[in-house]
Amino acid sequence: MGVNGAGYDYDVAVVGAGPGGSAAATGLAQMGWRVLLVDKAAFPRDKVCGDFLSPRSLRVLESLGCREALERARPNRIQAASLYLNGEPVTQGVIPQIEDLSNYGYTLPRYVFDEALFRHAARAGVETVEKCEVTRLETDADGVALHAKRAGKPATFRAALAIAADGAHSVLARQLGFENRDSSARIVALRAYFDGVEGDPARAEIFFDKTYFPGYAWIFPLADGRANVGLGIVQDVYQRYDINLRERMLHWLENDPAARARLGKAHMDGRIVGWPLPTYRPRAGGNFAERVLLIGDAGSFIDPINGEGIHTALESARIAAAVADEALRAGQFGADFLARYERAWRAAFDLDLRTSDFIVSVVKNRPMVAMWLLVLKMIGEKAMHDADYAATCGGILSGVVPTHQSLSADIIVKTLLNGPDFWGRMVGLNAESGLSGVVGAGVNAGLTVAGEALGMVGQLARRPAETVAWGLDVAAKGLGVLGGLIRGVGKE
Ligand SMILES: Cc1cc2nc3c(=O)[nH]c(=O)nc-3n(C[C@H](O)[C@H](O)[C@H](O)COP(=O)(O)OP(=O)(O)OC[C@H]3O[C@@H](n4cnc5c(N)ncnc54)[C@H](O)[C@@H]3O)c2cc1C
Repeated sequence: MGVNGAGYDYDVAVVGAGPGGSAAATGLAQMGWRVLLVDKAAFPRDKVCGDFLSPRSLRVLESLGCREALERARPNRIQAASLYLNGEPVTQGVIPQIEDLSNYGYTLPRYVFDEALFRHAARAGVETVEKCEVTRLETDADGVALHAKRAGKPATFRAALAIAADGAHSVLARQLGFENRDSSARIVALRAYFDGVEGDPARAEIFFDKTYFPGYAWIFPLADGRANVGLGIVQDVYQRYDINLRERMLHWLENDPAARARLGKAHMDGRIVGWPLPTYRPRAGGNFAERVLLIGDAGSFIDPINGEGIHTALESARIAAAVADEALRAGQFGADFLARYERAWRAAFDLDLRTSDFIVSVVKNRPMVAMWLLVLKMIGEKAMHDADYAATCGGILSGVVPTHQSLSADIIVKTLLNGPDFWGRMVGLNAESGLSGVVGAGVNAGLTVAGEALGMVGQLARRPAETVAWGLDVAAKGLGVLGGLIRGVGKE
């Protein structure tokens, strides 16, 4: 097939060959279109990441026919995870078996994974160009022109349609006015590789701590006794509270007993490196324009709760390839026609990403950090004694259960009514943290609860502008999620 437009050399030009770009290009080539895939790097190349491929990512990769290439790259199978809170173990569980998804994920360094996917695209018939940096696009009635620098010289590629898959620092998103500059919708994260890691290679470790919340640290084992180790936190909290992420990471590595147990005899291979994660913004405009579709990190599709972006990069690639195919068949490349891309990706994952964004917005309130960590602890404890609850919570964290299920009445009631009552434990928690200093045996529990609530209110009142902004943000996002849930119920 191929559109016989005189004005261009390719039906589709894809900018950026991360998982999103390579997947979109492969899908379109498999449909028979002439596809160009351009990247500024030469493969193999590193990409700062946790290197975890969730079961949902594996399902999309399977549909693209690259499972064999993936297996040849010798990934490590992750089947379980342990969760720690302020240095203490809280819970552990396995990835549940849900529908046709695998009950395991893979870890594979992006240096290896991205190259495997890139070469798979070439084998599918995609024309690949490396070391070529796209600087700008220009759209006219005949097509889209991508202006680039190739080996220091200017180059131009013409296509009917462009797919922007150029990642977190997307030049094309910036040019089109879709750049994610919102520091509340970005995570900053650090990553390092370690050799000589001990413990079960099928078990990932996740660490929450009051000093870097909302965020988490991780140890994701790789093959051959290696591990991907990192720490990430929401950017506006990190900026507002002047948190030194590198110091936090080193402190955690040196002092956390569970981290020491796995990494005590290991040594760092290379250095600690950082990269931003543009997370989902529910109120953002579209991810499409005349003759252009944005996918993956260029479209800010990362899940704000767990930082997973490979699945949504692959999924948005799959949807964009289907819409590009329709556009090429119809010869329609206007924004009004391409709006169907927006509708399709929203139907696929808007509600889940919105829910994640809402939850992160709620827990971002630092004066209430002790309470959020208590809720997390209660979730972990409940999961140890309730298999269905554990499957839902573990499934949400590992990406096999839709995130909006975390707001089901069953989960909320089970969480808050877990064992000793919530407010009673708040009292103990604040006494432990020395926030009140008034809790003692025989003190009337009702008075104490009121005192604790006032203590927290006092802390909130010390930052009035922040508290009001937080409240408004949470209310607006809560209403957005509610709307999505109601629309979902309406469709059932
Ligand atoms: C620390 C950290 C940990 C993470 N952990 C995980 C995890 O464990 N699991 C998970 O699912 N997600 C994780 N993510 C998110 C994940 O890395 C991204 O969501 C994912 O890489 C997005 O894929 P992409 O194809 O959209 O973009 P990218 O993978 O960033 O690829 C973009 C490509 O575009 C190229 N490019 C950029 N600009 C140009 C240009 N002008 N011209 C030509 N080429 C260009 C780049 O060279 C690159 O190859 C993590 C992110 C970070 C930062």
